[in-house]
Amino acid sequence: MAKYIFITGGVVSGLGKGITGSSLGVLLKNSGLKVFMQKFDPYLNIDPGTMNPIEHGEVYVTVDGGETDLDLGHYERFIDENLSKVSSWSAGRIYSEALNKERKGGYLGKTVQVIPHITDLIKEKIYKAEEKSKADIIISEIGGTVGDIESQPFIEAIRQVRMEKGKNNVMFIHVALLPYLKVSGEYKTKPIQHSVKEMLSLGIQPDIIVARTESSIKDRLKSKISLFCNIPISNVIVCPDSDSIYKVPLVLKETKMHEIVAKHLDLKIKELRLEGWEKFNQDIIESKEKIKVHIVGKYVELSDAYLSVMESLKIAGYEFHKKIEFVWVNSRFLNKDNIDSELEGAKGILVPGGFGEEGVEGKILAANFARTKDIPYLGICLGMQVACIEFARNVLGLSEAHSTEINPTTNNKIFDLMEGKDRENIGGTLRLGEYQADLKPGSLANKLYNSNIAIERHRHRYEFNNDFIKQFEDNGMIFSGKYLEKNLVEIVEIPNHKFFIASQYHPEFTSRPIKPNPLFKGFVKAIIDNK
Ligand code: GLN
Repeated sequence: MAKYIFITGGVVSGLGKGITGSSLGVLLKNSGLKVFMQKFDPYLNIDPGTMNPIEHGEVYVTVDGGETDLDLGHYERFIDENLSKVSSWSAGRIYSEALNKERKGGYLGKTVQVIPHITDLIKEKIYKAEEKSKADIIISEIGGTVGDIESQPFIEAIRQVRMEKGKNNVMFIHVALLPYLKVSGEYKTKPIQHSVKEMLSLGIQPDIIVARTESSIKDRLKSKISLFCNIPISNVIVCPDSDSIYKVPLVLKETKMHEIVAKHLDLKIKELRLEGWEKFNQDIIESKEKIKVHIVGKYVELSDAYLSVMESLKIAGYEFHKKIEFVWVNSRFLNKDNIDSELEGAKGILVPGGFGEEGVEGKILAANFARTKDIPYLGICLGMQVACIEFARNVLGLSEAHSTEINPTTNNKIFDLMEGKDRENIGGTLRLGEYQADLKPGSLANKLYNSNIAIERHRHRYEFNNDFIKQFEDNGMIFSGKYLEKNLVEIVEIPNHKFFIASQYHPEFTSRPIKPNPLFKGFVKAIIDNK
């Protein structure tokens, strides 16, 4: 039977519950346990797939095509396990399941209520993670902050899980802010006390409190938290702000959090080995020299919209002991008149994914700039589509070249909908998740992956129109990756260029510390070499 750890947040959001949970996951995994993670989000959207990236941040995609919260990306990068659709549940997804069941008469005429029907469904999803993953430990993060109206059914459900599974099998970790008051020069424990009081009123006594602070604190404060929050002082863990999220597993290792958890849950663990993480952190420390990457996107107001792209670049940079400096260029405002000044001195240009018409012409200009000025280029999804459209317009002379996403009536449909997809139904109808690309022998893609195949994750609707392949090839573009079963273009590249490669899939979802995705690694290397 699996053991369960539930992570809740107190006082304010944005404290890094996800990083805390993932870091604990790293410790437990490297103590010999099989770890799986889950996130419950209290919002009513079915999934983040249709949410605005500027508001919500990136949509992370799992191997089985789940469109999830960006925290899942942190989980996967940290614990290095593939998660799945059972890892990501919004209140909307749970409620919609309950309401569909009700419409079908599945509740046999009973009054459908938050307790027990919604809470039962939440518990079912928690137990399903155990069944699917066969993990020793399931770490589940409850989004939001304790006390929010929306998160109450989740808190009630995890209270019931503890009752059903017993104290030795379930653990509650509360991550809460310990604020520092500059005026009086002291830390204040009162907000934590209040948030624990709130939890107690919901029937939950936290087993561990992770106090999120600006810096380390005196033991006297830990005793105060221990006394007022009714937990042993050993279980008050202080986690100060860190200059890199990847340092947190090392910080928590020092607190022996994994041992506290193992003791509470009666788990036999092996000696913790974190050599890989220690080396990775050493690489980060040694990454002093900066290199610039220009990212031409349309959601640049919120860098979280490109979180996995940024982490993938950083990780690739650390491999070469370089620190990546992001230069954000808003494609909505990029035009013929300002492109030279906006991209002046660019050593590498990355065009990430995106949806809709806005900013597309700016991205096409950026792809043209990179191609014609021999600047390393990495195009991702829409970034691959604009590279092809640019090539069609300016090399093949197809002036109307476009994707039917943006111009449905163009005479040069370079990208078009696959059969069976429609434009109206936008939720959950993309080509999602993992597919295999066969890589052309001798191509750049093949060299970078050092393999004849690449298995990567997708999230798009429009596909390259194969009617144009010959014309593109005759003029120098190489189609180096294809999903053979459906004959879909996955990777394009241009030889006789410092580095020009673009993929229909999203390579950013598979970069892991010490294991950067090959496209990112190649791109960063090309920037370093582009003196
Ligand atoms: N909008 C494009 C499509 O749906 C690209 C999607 C993306 O960049 N993720 O095909």
